[in-house]
Amino acid sequence: MNIILFGAPGAGKGTQSELLIKKLGMVQISTGDLFRAAIKNKTPLGLEAQGYIEKGQLVPDSVTIGMVEEVLKSGVQNFILDGFPRTVAQADALEHLLAKMNLEVSKAIFLEVPQEILMGRLTGRRVCKNCAAVYHIDTKPTKAEAVCDACGGEVVQRNDDKAEVIGNRLKAYDEYTSPLKEYFVRSGKFVSVNGNRGTDAVFNDIAALIK
Ligand code: AMP
Repeated sequence: MNIILFGAPGAGKGTQSELLIKKLGMVQISTGDLFRAAIKNKTPLGLEAQGYIEKGQLVPDSVTIGMVEEVLKSGVQNFILDGFPRTVAQADALEHLLAKMNLEVSKAIFLEVPQEILMGRLTGRRVCKNCAAVYHIDTKPTKAEAVCDACGGEVVQRNDDKAEVIGNRLKAYDEYTSPLKEYFVRSGKFVSVNGNRGTDAVFNDIAALIK
């Protein structure tokens, strides 16, 4: 089954995708991860996206849609779209792309987390520069200070997780992504999951929806 996982920054999309990969063998298509890899490799796409991401703004639709199209064309199956679509224009484009490729997304799963919780999740988040494992200074600290438990890489704060950028990201979410709830209700694909619980409880609900 192919699904969309959406919600505000910090709602837990990446964490849940990681579990869906490990436990159910799904394939993650994360536009945020794809952009970060492109920035790391200094590709033209990365250079174009970098300025927007550092300011906490959305990367323009045309760039983002083109990138996702390339991935879908590679013939992925059983995938999670994590962080895409983020605008109604992206959702429309996705519908056309999928129809063209004879693919379908069965559910758009919304991770619901109260606004006041998101800020703490984002400011406390730390990531491994090497393997992208995700930690949190309070709820999931590394065993040794700033050293990744998994690979020994350096663990840092994402530039766009700094307090001054987070405000813009949350604003962009309210303005552009939040209307997707209505969009997916209309298409009959919307399902909401309470994301303000432990990782495993959230995962169990998502897994039950997928079976
Ligand atoms: P994420 O890792 O999903 O929080 O994404 C990090 C940043 O990448 C976002 O704040 C945006 O600047 C950019 N980004 C990721 N996905 C999209 C998207 N679907 N549309 C536009 N920009 C995106």
